[in-house]
Amino acid sequence: MTFKYDTFDILAVAQLCGIELQPTQRNDVEYSARCPFCGDRKYHLGLNRKKGVFHCFRCKEFGNSVSLYAKLYGISNGDAYNALKNMPELADVREIDSFKISEIPIRPVIERHNVYYDFLGMLTLNTTHRTQLMNRGLTFSDMHRFMYRSIPTDMSVRRKVMRKLGEMHSLSGIPGFYRADNGEDMMYCNKYGGVIIPVCNAEGYIQGLQFRLDVPPGSDEKKFRWFSSRHFNGGCGAKPWIHVVGDTSSNVACLTEGAMKADVSSVLSDGKLFLAVPGVNATAYLPDIIRAMGISKVYEAFDMDKRSKPQVRDALIRLRETLRRENIECVSCVWDARYKGLDDYFLAKTMSRATASVAA
Ligand SMILES: [Zn+2]
Repeated sequence: MTFKYDTFDILAVAQLCGIELQPTQRNDVEYSARCPFCGDRKYHLGLNRKKGVFHCFRCKEFGNSVSLYAKLYGISNGDAYNALKNMPELADVREIDSFKISEIPIRPVIERHNVYYDFLGMLTLNTTHRTQLMNRGLTFSDMHRFMYRSIPTDMSVRRKVMRKLGEMHSLSGIPGFYRADNGEDMMYCNKYGGVIIPVCNAEGYIQGLQFRLDVPPGSDEKKFRWFSSRHFNGGCGAKPWIHVVGDTSSNVACLTEGAMKADVSSVLSDGKLFLAVPGVNATAYLPDIIRAMGISKVYEAFDMDKRSKPQVRDALIRLRETLRRENIECVSCVWDARYKGLDDYFLAKTMSRATASVAA
């Protein structure tokens, strides 16, 4: 089921939520307001009725009318959509067709690769992230090979990178990039920094990018996000791409969730072929990839702790059925449940092997 997020006027939703608007406004499309997420007193929250989005220049919180409502009331986007749908005060303003922005068609993988490759080439991986990745079992050369980079959190760095990238490529139709009202090329950003993870196809081309955000420990905010600019001017959304890493000539593959987990697991298993879906329910592209790669056997290796969850269990049953229809043998991997992911298990095994060889 898909929701039409852009059907509610962001201004009407903001007013409904009691968000305080700046008394004087520039025009009928862009509004300034006090951001309810960061205790802002100086109208840092921008509302754009044409694009149906909000964005705080102070805390970087952003989204559309549905996610604004969802975030403020701590409910899911689906629940927020249903709540807004039934509000009589939104019925009249629901159709602002003249404001609708058309979605830009996504560019082919080779073109996306070229843009992302040059983009990543301008970024670095900071010491904190390097240490984190080292603790997961990667060497510096692995990090270099996978092109892991830190999200540029410094505004001036970001500006410089975007200017340079915009001179080299047209960024329209490349997920994650969009165009500001003043014509400047922009990149999707979150309030958190983090690591940028390239999601590659079997030929090694970068299909899209994912963010592993530095979400504070204990927070239930989502750690992984696509680098996506759906609903932004000149932007477009990411697709549920499958990440491929390791020995692509193999007809046996391990299947896991998340590109970084697949990268780490592949490295720690001496380069075994890994396929990573972006989520247990995001498997739409999987049959095509498996067919194209001539894979005949799949080891399913999703995190141990998740398998007990009913939604995950159902998703795994559906996945196994899909594979069976394709005549792919599917084996569930089971390992010591003290280790959440297969990568954690591999790492522990590698460490104990190293300790054993030192002891000997
Ligand atoms: Zn804010």
